[in-house]
Amino acid sequence: MTDPTATLFIDGQWVPSSSGETREITCPADGAAVGTVSEATAEDVERAILAARRAFEGRAWADRPAAERGDFLLSVADVLRARKAEFARAEALDTGKRLVEAEGDMDDIAACFRYFGKIADQHPGRLVDAGDASVISRVVHEPVGVCGLITPWNFPLLQAAWKVAPALAAGDAFVLKPAELTPHTAILLMEVLDGLELPAGVANLVLGAGAVAGAPLSSHPEIDLVSFTGGLATGRRIAEAAARDIKTVALELGGKNPNIVFADADYEAALDNALNAGFLDSGLVCSAGTRLIVQDTIAERFVDDLVARAGDIVMGGPFDEAAQTGPLISAEHREKVTDYVRRGIEAGARLRTGGNHGGPEHADGYFYAPTVLDRCTAENPAVIEEGFGPVITVETFSTEAEAIAIANDTEYGLAGAVWTSDAGVANRVSRRLRHGTIWINDYHPYLPQAEWGGFGKSGIGRELGPSGLEEYTVPKHIYENTEPAVSGWFPRPA
Ligand code: NAD
Repeated sequence: MTDPTATLFIDGQWVPSSSGETREITCPADGAAVGTVSEATAEDVERAILAARRAFEGRAWADRPAAERGDFLLSVADVLRARKAEFARAEALDTGKRLVEAEGDMDDIAACFRYFGKIADQHPGRLVDAGDASVISRVVHEPVGVCGLITPWNFPLLQAAWKVAPALAAGDAFVLKPAELTPHTAILLMEVLDGLELPAGVANLVLGAGAVAGAPLSSHPEIDLVSFTGGLATGRRIAEAAARDIKTVALELGGKNPNIVFADADYEAALDNALNAGFLDSGLVCSAGTRLIVQDTIAERFVDDLVARAGDIVMGGPFDEAAQTGPLISAEHREKVTDYVRRGIEAGARLRTGGNHGGPEHADGYFYAPTVLDRCTAENPAVIEEGFGPVITVETFSTEAEAIAIANDTEYGLAGAVWTSDAGVANRVSRRLRHGTIWINDYHPYLPQAEWGGFGKSGIGRELGPSGLEEYTVPKHIYENTEPAVSGWFPRPA
């Protein structure tokens, strides 16, 4: 890339926006300038989609042996590992998250490429018994075609990797549109794909606002699959637009995730992980355990301890080694979190800690202090809505059935946890929860080998695991009669 603002990657070329328009990216921790990137126009997006279509129809990538596509992904993983520090720094500057968290994300991203690299050729389809020795009936998996990939700002490259890696493993072509506030690691990833000589047009990158750069990816007739991670309202718009062309739609939306603590749980582990569940990455995690549902017999002590520990959490920028959590992404987002907490309190919740923007040392960033709201009822908007910030609401229960009912009382269904030392309770509750990932005596770990996705309004489809690859393919049944014969249905007139 010679022109530093030529940050769109279209048809194998780094190009500026056709309008010349750019966007300044700043670090949410202190407002420092991070970089200037191109803002795609509708025309740029059109060119990217058509380039992906040509690349897909040209078959240079789709027809490459699956094992070679897998090897390519393993090479991507190797480069990501080798350049981890550079990628993590870029992610930390765009998001404001702590460098150590961004480094952890980069490890997960390399692991994702490695996983899909290893399973790329493990998906040959299957033979079907047609009940006739002269017939060979098989189901094969074809690449779905041209994919529109739209991702959010909280785990910018991780969410992109969950889509890019399986799309490449499957033999698809794609146009990636990362969140407008956090574009830099997507640019770096495209440089890596380009450097490893991915055929031109297979991977395309457009940057910019959702309405201009993102919307065509759900409405353009040349897109076969739109895979989106982000908020519920945007997901609904995307699904509506995609419905017109009957596109395949994959949605990873929000969550309102229950963290159930029974009285017999390992107290210290449950307490420590309740903090992690709700406040890791300032709660900017779709699976954040922001609904603490604690058994009434320990509730008072548990919440008092949680509040004390939450009050000790140190906020700071990416490179502040004393910091334990970072800022929110923007002033606008912090305004939403502030309003969400205000409405929760108005509806009867009690503010136990937080509810502020930090001290004078935080004035240049979009910080929001770890917050606990107790005395919450099921009707409280803070319990119903995804706050997407460092805010834990507290509800209490007395029986197992009540805990399950409270935890399932949400339109979302992304993730949840149960803390107990009773294996029977753990097993029963984990099976009854209507959420896509359940942790027993833990919170947050996920594995690239295991499916990720939601029940209810948390989404459609699954990322990661074998299903995460299948999402980027379409099954095709090939029925071959090796002994063609006249059927006799419509006999020739005598
Ligand atoms: P968002 O919906 O505002 O934006 C996500 C992406 O969609 C961005 O790239 C944005 O530019 C784009 N976009 C906006 N309007 C669009 C349109 N009309 N057409 C096409 N694209 C459009 O979400 P966000 O605020 O960036 O991210 C936060 C949300 O993401 C939260 O709700 C969170 O729970 C969710 N999330 C879910 C998962 C998951 O795995 N389920 C993971 C991370 C984040």
